[in-house]
Amino acid sequence: MVKPVKRAGKVSGGPRKREATKSAPNSMSSKGKAADASSQRVEVVSMRNAQPADDRLLELSLRPTRLAEYIGQSHVKENLRIFMKAALNRREALDHVLLTGPPGLGKTTLANIIAKEMNAYLHSTAGPAIEIAGDLVAQMTNLEAGDVLFIDEVHRLNPAIEEKLYPAMEDYEFDLMMGQGAAARSYKYKLEKFTLVGATTRPGLLTAPLRGRFGIVFHLDFYPAQDLEIICKRSAEILGVEIDDKGAREIAERSRGTPRIVNRLLRRVRDYATVEYDGRITWEVAKNSLDRMNVDTYGLDEMDQKLLRTIIENFKGGPVGLGTISASIHEERDSIEEIIEPYLIQIGLLVRTPRGRKVTPKAIKHFKDKLSDPGPAPGNLELFDSQ
Ligand code: ADP
Repeated sequence: MVKPVKRAGKVSGGPRKREATKSAPNSMSSKGKAADASSQRVEVVSMRNAQPADDRLLELSLRPTRLAEYIGQSHVKENLRIFMKAALNRREALDHVLLTGPPGLGKTTLANIIAKEMNAYLHSTAGPAIEIAGDLVAQMTNLEAGDVLFIDEVHRLNPAIEEKLYPAMEDYEFDLMMGQGAAARSYKYKLEKFTLVGATTRPGLLTAPLRGRFGIVFHLDFYPAQDLEIICKRSAEILGVEIDDKGAREIAERSRGTPRIVNRLLRRVRDYATVEYDGRITWEVAKNSLDRMNVDTYGLDEMDQKLLRTIIENFKGGPVGLGTISASIHEERDSIEEIIEPYLIQIGLLVRTPRGRKVTPKAIKHFKDKLSDPGPAPGNLELFDSQ
């Protein structure tokens, strides 16, 4: 049965929805505030980076708001700068942007920066928060020309809703069915040209049609220690803590290549520095505090350690297949491949071979004193030859 189609949508030139947009064109102040406030609504559902509420608020104050303040990821920054400048010159909305990479590397921060640099509002939500198509309509019909809609964990969108995004991204239209049976009506909403910024830690779970609709795709890599050191010093300055180069370097090296972890460790080390020392963070203060918190010297978290120890203790260092590791440590294969392994491979503790995963001598050395069964001794290891 053909359903009657009703047209709905925004009337151009109608009353403005938001007082703040009445401010002078290009005025950043009100828009910036709106962007900052809306970023607080994002519910980041990542246990890896779970943190207390007061830490989350502090983190907001440490978040860079302009591209120039965003440290590292020079490839992403440089390209983004050009794409944004070109879109601004053409007075168009920026093409849709997909940001991929492990948690805590700066995807939400970049979404905020994009909105700010494009003089636009940021509307934030997350894949699991959009339960019915009406939720998405509510977000989308609120968008004004050039606005940025940030969807965190975009891979967790319900498939029926994801399909609704396709025409919205391509033709700036949204179809919504209301009612049931003979009374069902299809409403077509005309949307303003907006920019969708999608973030995902699991790009492998994105469907091809969704992925293909993003004109700009950036992958964020783990940060080298030098960049994390700069981030640590910048955050220390904002927090009003004195820190020297070696103190910042020690925190940077134990932060798993992740800015969010740098900021978290910095706050904890600051607590030790104020209570047990003279308030300044030196190498000695940083090292002692991090040791007392049992922070691994490579910044490995619980899952990293579990994976490496399992391969060493239960599989003689490997090679062992991904499926076996997954069953042994009770973690999904995708998460192992996309979240845990990249960092371990990058810092040289793990290698992927055609026969499975193997730990490296560096990993054995790292765990040497902590293992119940230290695995094969370096030297007679089939494990360590020929990479
Ligand atoms: P994600 O969305 O990828 O999980 P966030 O954007 O929330 O990560 O980043 C976490 C925190 O790390 C931010 O609040 C910010 O303080 C810091 N941060 C991330 N990237 C950078 C960067 N490039 N420069 C400075 N600080 C950063």
